[in-house]
Amino acid sequence: MKAYIVEKEAVAHNIDRLKAHAGGVPIWAVLKGDGYGLGAGAMAALCRENGLDRFAVTEPREARAIREAAGEEVQILMLRATTDREELGQLMDLDVILTLSSREDAAILEELAGERERPCRAHLKIDTGMGRYGFLPEEQGEVETLLRGLERVRITGVYTHFHSSFGKAEITRRQFDQFRRMCDGLEAAGLSLGERHCCNSSAFLRFPDMHLDGVRLGSAILGRVAVRDPLGLKKVGWAEASVEELRVLPKGHTVGYGAATTLKRETRSAVIGIGYCHGFTLQRGRDVWRAQDCIRGMLSNLKLLLRPSAPTVTVGGRSTRTLGHIGMLHTCVDVTDLTCQVGDRVRVEINPLMVKNLPVEYR
Ligand SMILES: *Cc1c(COP(=O)(O)O)cnc(C)c1O
Repeated sequence: MKAYIVEKEAVAHNIDRLKAHAGGVPIWAVLKGDGYGLGAGAMAALCRENGLDRFAVTEPREARAIREAAGEEVQILMLRATTDREELGQLMDLDVILTLSSREDAAILEELAGERERPCRAHLKIDTGMGRYGFLPEEQGEVETLLRGLERVRITGVYTHFHSSFGKAEITRRQFDQFRRMCDGLEAAGLSLGERHCCNSSAFLRFPDMHLDGVRLGSAILGRVAVRDPLGLKKVGWAEASVEELRVLPKGHTVGYGAATTLKRETRSAVIGIGYCHGFTLQRGRDVWRAQDCIRGMLSNLKLLLRPSAPTVTVGGRSTRTLGHIGMLHTCVDVTDLTCQVGDRVRVEINPLMVKNLPVEYR
């Protein structure tokens, strides 16, 4: 047996806390990346049970799963701009609120909305520094003209996305001010923009004055945020795999590829059928460009060199270290000092974003 377990209670707890912190401001549950790896439909149903009725996605298939799981009356917002007519058609048929991000997509939306009887709703995206999707603050004049020319597309909201809400507060403040100035300018010119929203999870927790008319929360629902958490959110998921084999290996025996571990004592080892092909010990890719990030990465590698520490798993409620390199499908665990039998379930921490090739089980 192996599966990724999502604890429904923990999700309910997080949503309760987030709602209290939002104080009545609507929450968009962001379920991109197939619900951060946990299944957009299943997560949407759970969010719906806990009183959320707004969702945000980046793929038509996520929108479809949410419609099926959470019903016709919930609102779904597409967070990615696209000029792909097929995608846009599918999204319109699912009554998804689209993102208007450029002159090109505005033209296509108008055309497709014309072919359909339904009115098309969209939120205007402003790029305050993320560098993808959205009009620049300097383009206010052009945006005014564009919005005035819309006939079939109705703008019901406007948003921006913060790039450093986990970092220095001034940076996010600057983005927030740019966003507000652009919205105020467009409204002063007589355009109506509808709901304003800008906060992701980190900004939501750190800057209550930026909640505006809505907040977009993904990682906070999973209880995994990159900033201090004042709400006591719970991590919602972990992997479980049963012990497939138990063996006693003599002192001096080696374990794993490269014989990276030589046992210092006679060791009882449990083999579990989970490895890096399921996401265990996979970190996010190397995507650092700034010198300061490279230095941070080097320091953490240096720390590992000075004090090597094997990843741990939990057996019968007790933490214990893994032995040797993690395999693609298998991991060996030191259970010398623990009670453990074949078939026992071992708990393995994996970030849901990294989970692959495991069924997701809600309990
Ligand atoms: C992913 C995303 C969010 C949610 O981010 P979290 O930090 O996971 O809460 C909000 N808005 C946009 C545009 C996103 O892409």
